[in-house]
Amino acid sequence: MDLSSMRLWTLGGVWVSHAVHTCNAPVLPAGRITALQAMDFWKKHFERTGVAEPDQSSQYIIAHLLGAKTIESLEHGKLAEFLSHEKTEQMWKLCTKRLSRMPVQYVIGEWDFRDLTLKMRPPVFIPRPETEELVELVLTDLEMKPETGVSVDTHPTCLEVGCGSGAISLSLLKSLPQLKAIALDQSQDAVTLTAENIMELGDRLQIYHLDVLTAVVGLCSPVSVLVSNPPYLFSEDMASLEAEVFRFEDHSALDGGKDGLKVIKQILTLAPRILSNHGRVYLEVDPQHPLLIQRWVKENVEELRYIETRRDITGRPRFCILQKEKSNQDRELAFGLRN
Ligand code: GLN
Repeated sequence: MDLSSMRLWTLGGVWVSHAVHTCNAPVLPAGRITALQAMDFWKKHFERTGVAEPDQSSQYIIAHLLGAKTIESLEHGKLAEFLSHEKTEQMWKLCTKRLSRMPVQYVIGEWDFRDLTLKMRPPVFIPRPETEELVELVLTDLEMKPETGVSVDTHPTCLEVGCGSGAISLSLLKSLPQLKAIALDQSQDAVTLTAENIMELGDRLQIYHLDVLTAVVGLCSPVSVLVSNPPYLFSEDMASLEAEVFRFEDHSALDGGKDGLKVIKQILTLAPRILSNHGRVYLEVDPQHPLLIQRWVKENVEELRYIETRRDITGRPRFCILQKEKSNQDRELAFGLRN
């Protein structure tokens, strides 16, 4: 144990050094401490041990223990109150998890995504803020653009590939009462977690554990929206991921192969067989991908037209929109122009 840091564990003389502790976790205080003292202590300990976002980490954990989302939303004076022995123990337990670099979302077991609070559990991918932008984009399109072939459909259906915790599908369902959705994931952990997160939206969502995307063709009638935040990281970048991501999150939800396009190409190849005519694909991708995807689709997927690239809030090209358009041959057949 590092004795120099042990000295820093003394707060107002309430700490003892003989208490039981595990691995590198600081000892549990014997006396009473306030929420603020506990929070400050752990912030400093996280700082010293190189845990990212030390301030937010200890704040989210204490807020969670006191039944709130943030410390700002706590009742006035709550932080100055003494913690019960049980709460102190819980604080130590949760902060020790964070010390192992477990993401704070897994430590507290939940996270907000748009207007939903979703359960989080390793190794299921934790939704990132940019995916909220992807959802906004789909929603705006569904509400605003009749020519997408979606709004004209009074019962639009959406298929999500790689649902993780269910964030995208559940969020879309919550905002669009007439929508039905199908969500797939190759991970049983993800499918189970999505099912747990379903809430009152249950009867409008079907969830499937599928590890081969082709299995989805024929599973349902054509859908108007195909949405995905697929694994899109370049394999060579996996080793340099932050410890939080590398150690705890499912690599198969992150690693998109050599060029990051492995799953994206599978989705786009199958899209024409899954979408209704004029149905759209919405993808979150790496900023290097939009141009590559545009070129690849032109050469490889006849019935899919690249519509546009949208930027995220930081200005990076992150979202691709494509649309199914029947080939000339199909159109001619449909109009009886060929024999
Ligand atoms: N944006 C994620 C990250 O940086 C990657 C998401 C993904 O591969 N779908 O960790």
